[in-house]
Amino acid sequence: MLNGTKLSLLVLISLVAINTLMGASKKRDVVTYIPKTVPFLPELPQLVPRYSGDIFKLNFKYKITPISDFLRSIEFSDMPEEYDIWSDTKINPYQVSLVDMTDTVKIDLSGYCPPSQKHVTSDFGFRRWRHHYGIDLKVNKGDSVFCAFDGVIRITKRARDYGYYVLVRHFNGLETLYAHLSKIVVNPGDTLKAGNILGLGGSTGRSTGNHLHFETRYLGNPINPNDLIDFHSHIIKNNIFLLNAQNFAYKKEIDKIRFWVIRSGDTLGRIALRTGVSISKLCSLNGIKRTSILRLGRKLRYT
Ligand SMILES: [Zn+2]
Repeated sequence: MLNGTKLSLLVLISLVAINTLMGASKKRDVVTYIPKTVPFLPELPQLVPRYSGDIFKLNFKYKITPISDFLRSIEFSDMPEEYDIWSDTKINPYQVSLVDMTDTVKIDLSGYCPPSQKHVTSDFGFRRWRHHYGIDLKVNKGDSVFCAFDGVIRITKRARDYGYYVLVRHFNGLETLYAHLSKIVVNPGDTLKAGNILGLGGSTGRSTGNHLHFETRYLGNPINPNDLIDFHSHIIKNNIFLLNAQNFAYKKEIDKIRFWVIRSGDTLGRIALRTGVSISKLCSLNGIKRTSILRLGRKLRYT
């Protein structure tokens, strides 16, 4: 039988043992920032942390270098040829249209970590006169923004629209973009694991409040993030994502959209007559009322 003193001594010894074990496992872990919400991080082979050598000797309009050998040697043997191009300034240096792609690309989404677990404030799709190529999540200023999959940082930059943004090339073939950050904590060439912090939430660039603008792209072409990820439960919809022309069908819809630029003397009636579209349709397409003031130079969508 154990008396009280012996029992508490035993508990104390067990606690010391657990702490020692945990300390030992912490020492083995080289990754500094891992959010507690990620239960499992896949092990990657040892990678070169930064690019070196010839990459900065090339004198192109923007820095590019063939890195296919580097990326192909890592984990996935079927990276597209276009990814031989590596730019640390252009979001889409590939200039490939995937609207009529005939094959299906398998993309491994396992190991996904949500960039943020906040709720969606604006979805992928058409907004007034421009398309929204990402999804907005309501992060606060200073909130950690996490890398969604394992990969290499390609761009860290400040732009007029995106503000401070980071673009990551992932080993699964996807690229992701994180915009309006208040701070960037990575550099181009850094290798990140899913769940590593790449920046802090903010409202830089064209933004009306703190939020994270998150994009998923393949060969430079935006994919609706909802095709891959469930943003309510913050988990992937499937371990393998089958990418095909369907995922770019939205581009054909965009091409069909036409705008009328409002000129002096224009009324809704006159625009309806000129475009052959009813006033009520013009109103619903543009989210305006019959009595709304038409500002000169503003675009009205009529298809
Ligand atoms: Zn956005």
